[in-house]
Amino acid sequence: MHVRRAVVLKILGAGLFLIQLPGCGTTKNSMTNNSENPRAAGDPLSIHRRAIIIDMHADTAQRLVDENVDLQNRLPDGQFDAVRAKEGGLDAQFFSIWVEPELFGGGGTRAIQRADIQIEAVHNLAAKHPETWELATTADDVRRIAASGRIAALMGLEGGYAIDDKIENVERYYQMGVRYMSGAWSVSTSWAGSSGDEIGKTRGLNDFGKQVIREMNRLGMMVDVSHLSDKAFWDIINTSAKPVIATHSGCRAITDMPRNLTDEMIVALAKTGGVVNVIFYPEHIEPGYSEQKKKVDAEIATLVQRASDEEKGDAAHKKLARDRVRAREYLKRLPPVSVSRIVDHIDHIVKLVGIDHVGIGSDFDGIQAVPADLSSVADLPNLTKELLRRGYSETDIDKILGGNMLRVMEEVEKKLTS
Ligand SMILES: [Zn+2]
Repeated sequence: MHVRRAVVLKILGAGLFLIQLPGCGTTKNSMTNNSENPRAAGDPLSIHRRAIIIDMHADTAQRLVDENVDLQNRLPDGQFDAVRAKEGGLDAQFFSIWVEPELFGGGGTRAIQRADIQIEAVHNLAAKHPETWELATTADDVRRIAASGRIAALMGLEGGYAIDDKIENVERYYQMGVRYMSGAWSVSTSWAGSSGDEIGKTRGLNDFGKQVIREMNRLGMMVDVSHLSDKAFWDIINTSAKPVIATHSGCRAITDMPRNLTDEMIVALAKTGGVVNVIFYPEHIEPGYSEQKKKVDAEIATLVQRASDEEKGDAAHKKLARDRVRAREYLKRLPPVSVSRIVDHIDHIVKLVGIDHVGIGSDFDGIQAVPADLSSVADLPNLTKELLRRGYSETDIDKILGGNMLRVMEEVEKKLTS
């Protein structure tokens, strides 16, 4: 554990050095390209700094609500804050607005309130710290905010629980700034099957679900298939008139679990013009990790329960207490996974469908284990280093880190003609 922590500190140190490089951070899009700036050619840090980097999924909005964390400071725990985001060269963060259905209901007033309070927290973040954040809803917003050296804050609804089975609520959330939604998280909704429960094995989209997808297309809200069942995935592919995305998923061909996408699915998603954003969570990217994790979960069950019992706060705080123990024990008991494994998934997608259909969706602050050399947003330059080492060009890297998602955002923003 001490060895691993030392590695992390070294990487963070490298990140600190990064932000002191002249010309970095404030001139996205305005810096000269490689051919005009030969000194930058092949230099991972220059390439990383110049690219527009968009992370499609982090769960930090819950920390804003449940822990009242101040993202302007370097936090001693978790995987995300503004200080580390700057070190990592991040330009745009999609904050997941996640409603845990077991705690807040799969619909109804509490689910709506839980989503709304997280959205309010993201709005407040941008309002309180305009020097660091600005709320964004379009690709142009992201480009402009990145060029100003600040971070674009965007939002996506994870699981459609908060629309409460009412079509008009899709527009309500669009108006609040939400720019993507998935039909379900690990628990199926009445209208979309999840990969995480039994019912999802036979549930795709019902008629209302198809209506939701068409309404998202009309409004310009991206359709996210991460967490959905195979049946729901295929129903979405056959319903959506706009590009479809996976905001945080891996490849089933490498890590065989229902939560990941098969090659056939990746090909179909790419045909819509969409993007698979590769998740950083070891369980979803490392073969065999899930089985080992199940064993560890059994070993630490008593410890986890004790932490939950001893926590005097509400259900959300009890979950936090359990997750803290899990994170500590996974680090001690499970083998380290590296950024190289993330790039294996990127490679696989590129080989299947080309460079235009892959991006990144960390799932930071929603996961209890992280790659050893990508343990927080500050370590994002290590991803660029590995992509360069594997022979990706600067143009390819721009696409992977955010360019492909900017293209999808623009496409989805266009009004439907019919
Ligand atoms: Zn998720």
